[in-house]
Amino acid sequence: MQLDAGVVTRCRRRVHLENDPDVVQAQSAPPDLVAEQRKADAAAHRRGVATALGRIVGSDLMEIPTGPDVRTADRERVTLAAMQAGTQFIWGAVLPRDESGGRRGGIDLLVKDSTGYVPVLVVRHKITDPGQGARTSSLAYPLPGASRADPLRRVRPQPRDQLRLAHAQRQLQAAGYAVRGRASGGVIGMDADVVLWHDLEAPTWPGGRTALSEYDARFSDRLSVAHAAAGGAEPLARPSRIVECKSCPWWPNCEQDLRRGRDVSLVVRGEDAVVLRRVGVPTVDALAALDPAKELTPLVGMPFSDAVVLARAWLRDLAVVRRVPRVDVPRADVEVDVDMESFADLGAYLWGSLLSGADVGEEHGYRAFATWEPLPTNDEGRSFGEFWTWLTGVRLRARARGLTFRAYCYNELAENRWLLASAERFAGQPGVPTIAQVKEFITSDAWVDLFGIVREQFICAHGKGLKTIAPVAGFTWRDPEAGGENSMRWYRDAVGMDDGEPNDPQRLRLLEYNEDDVRATHALREWMTSDAMARLPFAGDL
Ligand code: SF4
Repeated sequence: MQLDAGVVTRCRRRVHLENDPDVVQAQSAPPDLVAEQRKADAAAHRRGVATALGRIVGSDLMEIPTGPDVRTADRERVTLAAMQAGTQFIWGAVLPRDESGGRRGGIDLLVKDSTGYVPVLVVRHKITDPGQGARTSSLAYPLPGASRADPLRRVRPQPRDQLRLAHAQRQLQAAGYAVRGRASGGVIGMDADVVLWHDLEAPTWPGGRTALSEYDARFSDRLSVAHAAAGGAEPLARPSRIVECKSCPWWPNCEQDLRRGRDVSLVVRGEDAVVLRRVGVPTVDALAALDPAKELTPLVGMPFSDAVVLARAWLRDLAVVRRVPRVDVPRADVEVDVDMESFADLGAYLWGSLLSGADVGEEHGYRAFATWEPLPTNDEGRSFGEFWTWLTGVRLRARARGLTFRAYCYNELAENRWLLASAERFAGQPGVPTIAQVKEFITSDAWVDLFGIVREQFICAHGKGLKTIAPVAGFTWRDPEAGGENSMRWYRDAVGMDDGEPNDPQRLRLLEYNEDDVRATHALREWMTSDAMARLPFAGDL
């Protein structure tokens, strides 16, 4: 049996399921289109780096053939032949299987240093931050020997990258092609401007461990899990709900198991479930039977008393419970619900708003301030300036009429980030506020984060996201696929990011999605200030 590098950062139960011949054919979740898009983006990024590198190093770069008709075994053979021939740079390497160590897999790039080969990974995320001290070399000299302490960059910790490099390093060692001496590995990141070099033997991991020692411990554990699964032995990994479950194709299987066992991880996640099992509370029923006022053990994800209430709510099939006897949501004469849509780190292309309440000489209803020029674009400054001018106008007119004003969003982190960033990036453009003006607004009573209110005043059994909580208030989105990740895909189509052809129906879809988001926050606060609150169960009564 051989496992790839992914197992060391994958859930242990998933490793079991992927190697258990009895469950391998069991039902799994439908394909995740967002994950597919992410994979396609990563492949396009790697292609771009390969092309750039080919231009720089020319014939010193050999590319291992790939494609649906090329067998992995053949790619392995060609990679081995290239290493035997001493090729300087090998792109798309598939390393020889490590039969005794149980490893298989490839690496984006192999570079030949004076005493052997060093693995280099190409990733589509940031690998450094502004600062100093990272060891980097330019793309023109992608070799650890050419690296220096970078005066402008510091390492952004990406443990997963280092573990993948460690896997390749062990494969190279097993094949006899690793650099003699200290193990290292390179990463080319999102910006693809330098190669960042990691010392895989530096004690930079918790407890003084190194990337290699951490990798070794995890890999040998996963190998045992896989062997037990494949051999039909007592499973070494049981399901337990963790953050990754949300996007895991095995969730239907695991959810069934967890529900059957009424597992405690259904109401508390990850490490809290581990802690509760350890103190003899393995099920939701056992947790619900405890006294919330007597803390059996401290939890990291939530106060112990909340965990008990959540368990009781789960048993009664209640999605939301009041934490407080009386829910308090600040309201105003003139109200605006705000929701912003952004695309990755490139910008905020849409500010949507819903005006309601007393008359301020503006038509009630939804307004969108958008740019449909592909981000990044200066036109974003134009739409942001128009949004801010309109919002400020409503606020000032309300004040002039002696009316109170409030604007609402759901989770201010995102909106605040882009309000401040837009003020900075588009300073001086018509209607764009100063950073001080934005700060005055977001720290004032006029800016209300409904997420904060939900967090403080409710206990939610299925999460606190707007898509989870607004339906409890009776709200539904028109688009059954509405969601942040999907909106990224729609945006690419809307502005023609992939084929250059803007897609108008996708723009309309984004506008409707954004309008429904602001209508959802409106519905939520109406619900939270209605008689419905009196009928909503109170935690103290459960
Ligand atoms: S659904 Fe969760 S517990 Fe099950 S394999 Fe996936 S990540 Fe692991």
